[in-house]
Amino acid sequence: MIRFRIGHVTATLIQETVDKSFDFLKFFPQADAELRDENLSWMAPGHYDPATGRMLLSMHSWLLDTGRHKILIDGCVGNDKDRPGRPDWCNLQTPFLDRLALAGATPEQIDYVLCTHLHADHVGWNTRLIGDRWVPTFRNAKYVFSKTENDYWAARYAADAKNHHILGYVDSVLPVIEAGQAMIVDDYAEIADCLSIEPAPGHTPGHVAIWLKSKEEYAVMTGDILHHPIQVKYPQWSCFGCIDQTLSARTRRSVLEATCERRALLLPGHFMAPHAGYVDEGVGGGFALRWAE
Ligand SMILES: [Zn+2]
Repeated sequence: MIRFRIGHVTATLIQETVDKSFDFLKFFPQADAELRDENLSWMAPGHYDPATGRMLLSMHSWLLDTGRHKILIDGCVGNDKDRPGRPDWCNLQTPFLDRLALAGATPEQIDYVLCTHLHADHVGWNTRLIGDRWVPTFRNAKYVFSKTENDYWAARYAADAKNHHILGYVDSVLPVIEAGQAMIVDDYAEIADCLSIEPAPGHTPGHVAIWLKSKEEYAVMTGDILHHPIQVKYPQWSCFGCIDQTLSARTRRSVLEATCERRALLLPGHFMAPHAGYVDEGVGGGFALRWAE
């Protein structure tokens, strides 16, 4: 089991799948083959497959146990979800909830679910299919969504019903709101005594960074502010899916700066093993990732 301690709090990785579907150069429009190959010594084979040109992305949630609360950060893709635009996310059947139970939390024990943003690979386990209805998976939990993010998707879901992120909003966010379990928060919010939410826009308009502080130790859960460890070295590389590429890059740099200053443990949403690390100042305006033990 992959588990880190931050003060009194533990953060445990709950992995759903490994996504190998994204071509590295298409994923990062600013990347080129030369810079990619300069980094092969550490990227391959754990984070990049030279045989296919594709990257490896871990699809996972973080389970936080504060002693008082059990908190799930991001909800992966989920089971039974219809995602025609993304075959690798379509109708998954994974034992995610068994893995969560092994890590120490049944669905009933989860007190909060926080979503860094409302893309389909971060909201999936918010709901599960019971009969023909999507119902909240964590029936005793408050689900924390950013108001800016929710407003963005709420304004769009009627317009483009086939987009996989819109489908995710409809089957994995709206049922939670309808069940009265959503806690829709403004730009800055404090949750469960140890978490603070700060705006981190760019990848999506209401993306947030989730900061954890316990006993003067920090961690930060960054969702899709970063997808791949190469972006620590080249924070200017936004991904093709970032809605505002320039703002995404600016946010990435400022979150990496704060992570470095606070000596915080970086807990990203998609990094492969060892999944977490610390950020040091790097050369050439970037940063250097020091993997956690
Ligand atoms: Zn993602």
